[in-house]
Amino acid sequence: MLTTVIRRTMATGRHFIAVCQMTSDNDLEKNFDIAKSMIERAGERKCEMVFLPECFDFIGVNKNEQVDLAMTADCVYMQRYRDLAKKHNVWLSLGGLHHKDPSDHAHPWNTHLIIDSQGATCVEYNKLHLFDLEIPGKVRLMESEFSKAGNEMVPPVETPVGCLGLSICYDVRFPELSLWNRQRGAQLLSFPSAFTLNTGLAHWETLLRARAIENQCYVVAAAQTGAHNPKRQSYGHAMVVDPWGAVVAQCSERVDMCFAEIDLSYVASLREMQPVFSHRRSDLYTLHVNERNHETDDLKFAEFPIPASHIFYSTPHSFAFVNLKPVTDGHVLISPKRVVQHLTDLTDAETADLFIVAKKVQAMLEKHHNVKASTICVQDGKEAGQTVPHAHVHILARRSGDFGDNEIYQKLASHDKEPERKPRSKETMAEEAEVYRKLM
Ligand code: AMP
Repeated sequence: MLTTVIRRTMATGRHFIAVCQMTSDNDLEKNFDIAKSMIERAGERKCEMVFLPECFDFIGVNKNEQVDLAMTADCVYMQRYRDLAKKHNVWLSLGGLHHKDPSDHAHPWNTHLIIDSQGATCVEYNKLHLFDLEIPGKVRLMESEFSKAGNEMVPPVETPVGCLGLSICYDVRFPELSLWNRQRGAQLLSFPSAFTLNTGLAHWETLLRARAIENQCYVVAAAQTGAHNPKRQSYGHAMVVDPWGAVVAQCSERVDMCFAEIDLSYVASLREMQPVFSHRRSDLYTLHVNERNHETDDLKFAEFPIPASHIFYSTPHSFAFVNLKPVTDGHVLISPKRVVQHLTDLTDAETADLFIVAKKVQAMLEKHHNVKASTICVQDGKEAGQTVPHAHVHILARRSGDFGDNEIYQKLASHDKEPERKPRSKETMAEEAEVYRKLM
């Protein structure tokens, strides 16, 4: 999957956006023509970004069609959208492409793509929360029957109209995702949608305004409207909400567009005036996110540099790396990125992250080494056997009888000092890390 490829400069000031409302069906050409005329109109009105709804490509009549018509992001059909972005010098938010996985045709993702004005993909987000709902006699929509969920958080992306958080439709009900986007710098949150009629009548505007108010972000929600086929109908009311919670643009229930001004200085002044994010009680609650870092930095284990090639997994707070002098086959270490000696020096967020990473690594090691037991331990302080003054969790794959009467703790306390146990070569350590990196 592509993530952000280029670091862009931050937008400031005022910007115009266009938000589209469609009634997609299974006629891809017709859907494209409608989207095309909307993008043209947005270009004429000098909008910098155009937002299209979930299922802008199509809505199939049944689950087989939903799967069969799915496409890859670099197909000819999608190229036409890239050409339009270039021709009209606009960025596109294409919410909810039925995105074919080349290695698993039966289970497409639901992907929100951001295309820049050069026609290139900046970022792809695969919908995390699939909409499975059955209200007897009213609505039955089981997205998991024709889509698979993404499993990665995707940070907000810099666009010409501001830093944009990516979500899709049903994601709006999971405030953690929006909160995380805000914490990562989002000024706008986008929810391209195909909300069902019943849920839309009850919750659409309330949910969008809540996400805008609590995160002090613009909320941009392109939408599907009307009947797509005899079995599926959408609520419409594509809208833009400002960070104070006011609806500043809205479509009704027909195929249409609405336009809005995004004023980034308003976002800044509002956050200054009411600094709710600095009033959060992070000492009492925390938002933990299982986030993986893809960049490979060299880090320090106390004063020892750990080369990126020895690190096989990292998150914003923690990193997992192979051991210089392993006690068993499959003995690795997890440390916080911040160099502190004791667990008690860590914040709650760092502590949670450290042990969540440790658990993930343990599962991977047990599978890889084909064992069913592990020793997880922390020697917290010199008197407890700690030789490197940087908090770390040891994970050791365990085999039956490997340490006599479980004398592993003596072994851990002494293994660094045993003259016969030589440090391994950098190459051997990098090879082991490469195997684990792939498995993680
Ligand atoms: P402890 O005795 O609990 O402080 O454990 C320190 C661990 O770090 C031991 O298992 C060492 O083999 C390991 N170690 C020390 N230096 C390095 C290094 N540069 N790279 C990887 N592991 C290291």
